Amino acid sequence: MRRIAVLCSGGDGPGMNAAIRSVVRCAIYRKLEVFGVTRGYDGLIKGDLEEMFATSVSNILTRGGTILKTARSKDFMTLEGRKKAAQVLKKHKIDGLVVIGGNGSFRGAHIFKEDWPGRIIGIPGTIDNDICGSDYTIGADTAVATALDAIDKIRDTCTSMERIYVVEVMGRHQPFIAVRVGLSGGAEDVLVPDTEYDIERMCDDIKAGRKRGKISWIIIVSEGVASAKEVADLITEKTGFETRATVLGHVQRGGSPSALDRMLASRMGAAAVEALLKGETDKMVGIEADEVRLVGLKEACEHSPKKVKLNRELYNITKILAT
Ligand code: ATP
Repeated sequence: MRRIAVLCSGGDGPGMNAAIRSVVRCAIYRKLEVFGVTRGYDGLIKGDLEEMFATSVSNILTRGGTILKTARSKDFMTLEGRKKAAQVLKKHKIDGLVVIGGNGSFRGAHIFKEDWPGRIIGIPGTIDNDICGSDYTIGADTAVATALDAIDKIRDTCTSMERIYVVEVMGRHQPFIAVRVGLSGGAEDVLVPDTEYDIERMCDDIKAGRKRGKISWIIIVSEGVASAKEVADLITEKTGFETRATVLGHVQRGGSPSALDRMLASRMGAAAVEALLKGETDKMVGIEADEVRLVGLKEACEHSPKKVKLNRELYNITKILAT
C-alpha cells in the first residue's frame, strides 16, 4: 500500500476535520501518500481529488464542518457511477480509501467493494449516533452540547416570562440527542420514539405544576416524533398558558468539536490508517469501552436499530427529576 484517499459523505458533523487531520498526518507518518476527495462520492466520481500534506490540515482540529466538504450522491447509488469512481481511484493509483460518514455512506462503501479491488475502511461521523460497533460516533457529543447550550438559554427566558417552551432537537427519528439534553437540561418532558405521546396527560401535568408554583416548563421533541408548533398550539389551547415552539435545526451540526469528539476523531483516524496497512477492508473503526475495534461495515449499518433504541433509564430519570 502506497497511496490512500479520504472523503466525507452524508451529513456533516463536528469533528470530521479532526478525523481528516488524523488520517492525513498518520498516513504521512507511515510513509503513505494521501489524497483528499472533495464532496464525497460525487467528488470521487468526478475525479475531484488532490494530494494532501501535513500543512494541508493545519489549524483544522478545532473547526466544525469539513474542509473536504460533504455531499449525498445519487450517482454513487448506480453501478455506472461506482464504476466511474473505481476508474478514478485506479487512475490515481490509490489502493486504500477512508470514508468518514454515517449509515448510508457505509452502505455505499460496503457495496463499492464489489466494484473496486482496493481496501475500504469507514470512520463513523454523524451526529445521530446510530451506528453499531462504537459507543459514540464523531459529532454526536458536540451536537448534544450545542443543543444543551441553547436549551439552557431558552430556560432563562422561559423562567423570566413564565412560559412553556416546546423545543425540537435533531436526531432523524432517533432519541439520542433528545434524551440526553432532556436529562442534562432538566426538561419537564421528552417526546421520543417508543414512548407514548399523551397530550392530555402532559397538559394535566403542566396545570398541576403551575398549582405547585412551577413557572418554567420545557418539553423536548425529537425530530420526526411530532411538530413542535403543533404541540405548542395544543398546549396553549388546552391549558390557556402561553406556549412557544423553537426548532433548533442545523445549529446542532456545527461548532467546534468537544474534547470527546476530537479524541474519537484522532484515535479513529489513526486506527483507520493502521487497519488499511494491515490489509483490512470492508470494516469500520469503532471505539467501545475505550478500546479501538474493527467491525464489519455491513454489521455496523444492519444492526443500527438495536443501537438507536430508547435508553429507558435516562428517560425515566428525566421524568422523576422533573417533578
Ligand atoms: P448522516 O447519517 O449523517 O445523514 P449518511 O452517511 O447516513 O450520513 P446518507 O445520505 O444516508 O448519509 O448516505 C450518504 C451517501 O451514501 C448517499 O448520498 C449515497 O451516495 C451513498 N449511499 C447510501 N446508500 C447507498 C447504497 N445502498 N448504495 C450505494 N451508495 C449508497
